[in-house]
Amino acid sequence: MHWADVLAEKLLQSKKKQVLATGITPSGPIHIGNMREILTTDAVYRSLVTKGGKAEFIYIADDFDPLRKVYPYLPTSYEQYVGQPISEIPCPCGKHQSYADHYLGSFLSSLQEIGVEPQVYRANEMYKKGEYNEAIQIALDNTEKIKKIIETISKRTLPKGWLPFNVLCNKCKRLSYTKPTLYEYPFIEYTCECGNEGEVDIRKGGVGKLPWRVDWPARWKMLQVTFEPCGKDLATVGGARDTGARIVEEIYNYPHPALLVYEFILLKGKGAMHSSKGTALSAEEMLQMTPPEVLRYLIMNNQPNKHIVFDSGLGLFNLVDEYDKQERVYFNVEEKTKGMKDLKKTYELSQPELISKTPPFQLPYRHLVTLIQIGKNWNHMKQILQRTGQIPKNISKSDEEHLRQRTEHVQYWLDHFAPEVVKFRVQEQMPPLMLTKEQKIFLQSLNLKISQINWDPEEIHNAIYETLEQEKIQTASGFSALYKIILGQEKGPRAGYFLSNLDKKFIVKRIAEAIK
Ligand SMILES: [Zn+2]
Ligand SMILES: [Zn+2]
Repeated sequence: MHWADVLAEKLLQSKKKQVLATGITPSGPIHIGNMREILTTDAVYRSLVTKGGKAEFIYIADDFDPLRKVYPYLPTSYEQYVGQPISEIPCPCGKHQSYADHYLGSFLSSLQEIGVEPQVYRANEMYKKGEYNEAIQIALDNTEKIKKIIETISKRTLPKGWLPFNVLCNKCKRLSYTKPTLYEYPFIEYTCECGNEGEVDIRKGGVGKLPWRVDWPARWKMLQVTFEPCGKDLATVGGARDTGARIVEEIYNYPHPALLVYEFILLKGKGAMHSSKGTALSAEEMLQMTPPEVLRYLIMNNQPNKHIVFDSGLGLFNLVDEYDKQERVYFNVEEKTKGMKDLKKTYELSQPELISKTPPFQLPYRHLVTLIQIGKNWNHMKQILQRTGQIPKNISKSDEEHLRQRTEHVQYWLDHFAPEVVKFRVQEQMPPLMLTKEQKIFLQSLNLKISQINWDPEEIHNAIYETLEQEKIQTASGFSALYKIILGQEKGPRAGYFLSNLDKKFIVKRIAEAIK
C-alpha cells in the first residue's frame, strides 16, 4: 500500500474530521524541505478524501515571527528591523506589502501550479484579530507548568520571571527585546532594551506573541489540527515537537496531532539545505526548473522517512524520464519493470490536476532541451515539431499546453542550472574555422551522402557513421567538425536528432561553405 494510504487509514480510525496542517515562517526564500512538507500533506489529504473521509488542508504562515538576524540575502540596512515581526517590515524589493509577503506571496501562487490549494492562515492576522487571546491567557495562567515542561524536556533553563508571552514594544516595535516585569490579568508590564517601559493589555490583539514552543501547540488546539508533518530538524528529542505535545495535552487539553517526521531533500553535491545561510535552492526555483508532475512524483515515489537527493544538473533528465516511463506503464503502453511499487497510486498522486483519461502525448525531455535551443519560442518549436512529424498535426489542446509548459521549465533550467555541456547556439553565420584536411574530406563526403537520405534522425545518424567508416576518420574528429561549423564549439547534442530539426538545405549549404 502507498504510504499516503497507510497514513490516511490510520487517521480514519478516528471518525472525526481531519485537519491536516503545514506551516512555515516566511523569513527567507522558502526552502525545498517545505515543498516536501506541503506535498506530503497533500498526498495524505487526497487519500483521505478518496476514502470518503472528511478532511481539511490548512497552511499557516507564521508571519508574526520576528526577523532573527540580517540574513546573507538581505541588505545591511535590515539591521534596524531585527526583532520586529516580519509582517511589519518593508519588503526587500519594494513591490510587496511586507517582508513576509515578499517571500510568501509568490510561493503561495506557485503552489497552484503543483495542484495544492490549502486554506491559508496568517499568524499576524490571527494575532491582531484577537484569535489567539484565549490561548494567550491560558498560557499565562499556566506559566509555571509550561516553564516546567519546557525546562524538563528541552533541558534548558528559562530566566527568572519568564512568561510564555513576548511583548511587542510599543516604541521600537520589536518582539525580541522586551522583558516582562509583572503579569496581573489582563496587564503585562515590561521593560525594553531600547529604554522603553510600558504596559500591554492582553485582551487586545497583536500586542505580543506566544513563544514558538507555545505558539505551535496553541495553534493545534485553536485550529483543531489532527495531523502535521514535521521536518527531522524540529522532531529531535527535547525539540519543539516534544514540548508541544506535552503543552497541548496538559495545558490546552487537546490530543497532540499525529506525527509524521519527514526527511530532508538534499541537493546533489551540496548536502542539506540551509535557507538561513542563503545557500539553499528555493522551493520556487525547484518548481521553476521541474515540471510540476515530476516534482510531485519525486515526493510521492519516496517514503517520507527516506531522504531525497535532488540533482539540479543532468540528473533532472533521468528524473523526468523515470516519470514518463511511469506514465507509460500506468496507461499500459509499456510493461512494468522491477522496483515500481504502488505504481498506480504514485502516478495518481503525482498529477497536479485531474488524471488524463487517455495517455498524454510524450516527447523525450532531452529532445525538448535540444529543440528549445533551436527554436526561438514555442510557436517556432511547434512548427519544427510538426514539420518533422514529431507531434501530430491535430495535437490536442491539453497535450500542446503540457509540452509548452515543459519547455518553460526547460528554459528556466537552461538559464540557471544546466551544465555548460548541454548548451549551444546555432550560428547564423559561419563561425571562424580551423578544420583539418581529413575533417574537410569527411564533410565533403558526408554532404554527398545526406543529399540522398530522408531527413530523419536515424538516417542522419547512419549517414554520419557510414561516412566516418568510409573515410577512416576518428569519430570525435568527425563530430567535432560538424559541431564546429554549425555551433562554433567542439561538442553538441546528439547529432542525428539535432540535425533533423534543422533545415536540410541550411546544413548542406553550411557544409559546402566550410569545405570551400
Ligand atoms: Zn518584495
Ligand atoms: Zn523597545
